[in-house]
Amino acid sequence: MAKRDYYEVLGVLKNASADEIKKAYRKLAIRYHPDKNPNNKVAEEKFKEAAEAYEVLSSPEKKQRYDQFGHAGLGGASSASAGGMNMEDIFANFGDIFGDAFGGTFSGFGFGSNNRSRRLKGSDLRIRIKLTLEEIAKGIEKKVKVRRMKMAKDVKFKTCTNCNGNGQIAQVTNTFLGRMQTMSTCGQCQGIGKIVDHIPSGANNQGMIKEEELVSIQIPTGVTEGIQLKVSGKGNEAPFEGVNGDLIVLIEEIPHETLKRENLNLHYDLYISLPEAVLGANKEVPTLGGKARIAIEAGIQSGKTLRLKGKGIPDIEGNGCGDLLIHINLWTPKKISREQKEMFEKIKNDENFIPNPKQSDKSFFDRVREMF
Ligand SMILES: [Zn+2]
Repeated sequence: MAKRDYYEVLGVLKNASADEIKKAYRKLAIRYHPDKNPNNKVAEEKFKEAAEAYEVLSSPEKKQRYDQFGHAGLGGASSASAGGMNMEDIFANFGDIFGDAFGGTFSGFGFGSNNRSRRLKGSDLRIRIKLTLEEIAKGIEKKVKVRRMKMAKDVKFKTCTNCNGNGQIAQVTNTFLGRMQTMSTCGQCQGIGKIVDHIPSGANNQGMIKEEELVSIQIPTGVTEGIQLKVSGKGNEAPFEGVNGDLIVLIEEIPHETLKRENLNLHYDLYISLPEAVLGANKEVPTLGGKARIAIEAGIQSGKTLRLKGKGIPDIEGNGCGDLLIHINLWTPKKISREQKEMFEKIKNDENFIPNPKQSDKSFFDRVREMF
């Protein structure tokens, strides 16, 4: 059977650039790849034919001879002219041309014999930490006991004898496609290339042991319920000196006895008596980790909000601090004495006691609108 013209095989013109030739070959190699065409003799021939054409046309020297003298010009100088290439040669020489086209599924053909031993990653550990608002506002270092998988102290490794540390085993099989080399993960070391030489007592067969460790966690100021902090490398250690997992810390907020958190602001309901509202007063209010005294002006309206600037929660990114908002509530007694009743009866119709809100005594709804 006469050999086809190599340019025809690749479907390129005689003056095609090296890049065009490579692209054309890649296209054909992927189309007729044995993985995509199992048990297809025609595809196999096409695959080999394209590789042969590419072997010649990708070499400036061979290409020149071919251009000048045709197939005869190559003599016995190339594997191509010496009766075709076998599959192993094709993959050994041109394997890299497939790039990622076949992803992981195709590495089985063994492009080269590079050491591909795996590194394992330890799993992440998760814990919850409950924090008071005081701790959140200040930031705090917490020390927690964590049970982590760790490499036992005197564990020893040795290079896997089955794969010589490569993590993979090459197997050459004779198939109808010719001799084919396939790589498979080493069954003895699971692709790691190392095995445990000495397992200390108490350790598992990977030389790992579970140990309690005191881990210090720096909690930044201003965290919120549900936030997750990551302490890198403090999860489980990986067997065989792999990469440690992380410790994931879930933050929970312990509700405060008297203060309510709303983002960065805190809210407090202050109840004052009728005489205090009328006469004015000096009141103590709780703050985070302390107390503050506030002056209640005489004639204050129920529902008014006083603001203690900067007494809220600091922003986690350092953009300022929230406030403590004190909501004034008038405490109305349900039970009063006869004398008190007489006193209220006496002043009931006094014009000072008749509601007469001015613009300065904005309604509750106006104030709510102002707050948002
Ligand atoms: Zn091995």
